[in-house]
Amino acid sequence: MVKHYDVIIIGAGAAGVGVAKTLHYLNHANRAENNQGISYCVLERDEVGASFLKWPQEMRFISPSFLSNPFGLIDLNAISPDTSPAFTLDTEHPSGKEYAHYLKQVVKHFDLPVYEGVSVRNIRILPDGYAIDTSTRNVNQADTLLAQNVIWAGGEFQHPKTKPFRGAEHCLHNSHIKTWAQLSGKEYVVIGGYESGIDAAIQLSKLGKKAHVLGASPTWEKESTDPSLVLSPFTKGRLRAAMRTSLVTLEGNIKVISVDRVGNKYHITACDANGRQKHIACAQTPILATGFESSARQVSHLFDWRLDGMPLVNPVDESTLHSGVFLVGPSLRHDKHILCFVYKFRQRFAVVVNTIAERLGVNATALAEYRRQGMFLDDLSCCGDACAC
Ligand SMILES: Cc1cc2nc3c(=O)[nH]c(=O)nc-3n(C[C@H](O)[C@H](O)[C@H](O)COP(=O)(O)OP(=O)(O)OC[C@H]3O[C@@H](n4cnc5c(N)ncnc54)[C@H](O)[C@@H]3O)c2cc1C
Repeated sequence: MVKHYDVIIIGAGAAGVGVAKTLHYLNHANRAENNQGISYCVLERDEVGASFLKWPQEMRFISPSFLSNPFGLIDLNAISPDTSPAFTLDTEHPSGKEYAHYLKQVVKHFDLPVYEGVSVRNIRILPDGYAIDTSTRNVNQADTLLAQNVIWAGGEFQHPKTKPFRGAEHCLHNSHIKTWAQLSGKEYVVIGGYESGIDAAIQLSKLGKKAHVLGASPTWEKESTDPSLVLSPFTKGRLRAAMRTSLVTLEGNIKVISVDRVGNKYHITACDANGRQKHIACAQTPILATGFESSARQVSHLFDWRLDGMPLVNPVDESTLHSGVFLVGPSLRHDKHILCFVYKFRQRFAVVVNTIAERLGVNATALAEYRRQGMFLDDLSCCGDACAC
C-alpha cells in the first residue's frame, strides 16, 4: 500500500517536533475555517527526544527556561509559542532527560503524528516528489511512503566528530559518556574548548578530578554578542567557580594534531599559534569535545555543501539542489548566521511551513500569529551585534 503525504519530517527532536507543531497549528486554524490542511507525519529512528536522552546525565541546557510566554517573550527553549519547558519541568536549566519529557508532552498533548522506531535509510528522488525508504515496512499501514516535501530534522548530537585528527580513535567523545562518575582516573586532558569541553572540565572538577583543556581558540576570553561564538553566561559562571578549585586549567590557541597510545599512556601532539609543536602525556583516555557533524550527511545527495561542512540552503531553508527538501535545526546556516540554538532555529519553522503551504495552495494567514510572537523570522538582517553594554 502506498501512502502519500504533503510533508514527511525526519527526526523527532526539538526541530522535528517544533516544525510538526507549526504544521499542527496551521491545520487547526484552517480546519476551523473549513480550509484545506497539509498532510504530514514525523519518522523517528528511536523515540521522541532520543538525542536528549543520550546526553551525559550531568549536562544541562545552557540557555535558560523561564515562563515568560504570557508577556510575549517565549521561553528560550520552547519549540512553540504556547508551550514552555519552564512550565512543564519547573526548572531553569533542564537536563536532557527533562527536555525529552517536555518534547514527549508536546507530542502527546497535541496528538502529533510521530512514528517511533522508524529509521529513514534513504530518500529517493522521484519526478514529482520523494520516496522514503525506512527500516520498518508498514508505517501507518503503508509499504511505501511518498512525500511531496521532505523536512530533514535529524540533528547533530548522534553524529559526533570522532576523527578530527590522527589517533582520535584512542580518545573518548564527550557525547559517549553516560555520566562523568563513570570515569575513574584523577587527571584528564579535554580536547576542545567550547561549551562541551568546558562543561566536561567543570563536571570533572566537581568530582575532584583535574582537567586540562586544550582549545583551538580561547573561547573563555572571547567577546561577542553571538552566543554561538562565545561561552554562555551559564558556563562562564560555572567555569569561574571551577577555576577557584585550581583543578581546571585552560590552554588556548592550541591545535591537537595527533594522539598516540604508547603502552598505558597517551601522547598528544599539538601545535601552538606560532606553529611550534608541543607534546603532552596523559595517563587517562583524552576526552574529545570536538563537536558534531550534520546528520544531513545521511542524505548528502539531497544537498550541496558549504565549506564549513553544513548543508547549503536557499533563503527559505530549502536545498539549493532539490525543490521540496528543507532543513530545520542546529545545522542551519545563512552566510555568517549560525542558527544552532533552539531560540534561533525555532524562528524558521514558520518560514518552511509558510513556503510549503503557499506552494500547496493552503491558506497560511494563521502564521501571522507566529510572526506576532517572534517565531517567524524571515529577515536575518536584524541578527547582528546589537548590545551597547
Ligand atoms: C552538547 C550540546 C548541548 C547543547 N545545548 C543547547 C542548549 O543549551 N540550548 C539550545 O538551545 N541548544 C543546545 N544545543 C543545540 C542542540 O543541537 C539543539 O538544541 C537540539 O538538540 C537540536 O534538536 P534537533 O531536533 O535538531 O536534533 P536532535 O535532538 O538530535 O533530534 C534529531 C532526531 O532525529 C532522529 N534521526 C536522526 N536520523 C534519523 C533517521 N535517519 N531516521 C529517523 N530519525 C532520525 C534522531 O534519533 C533524533 O531523535 C546543544 C547541542 C549539543 C550537541
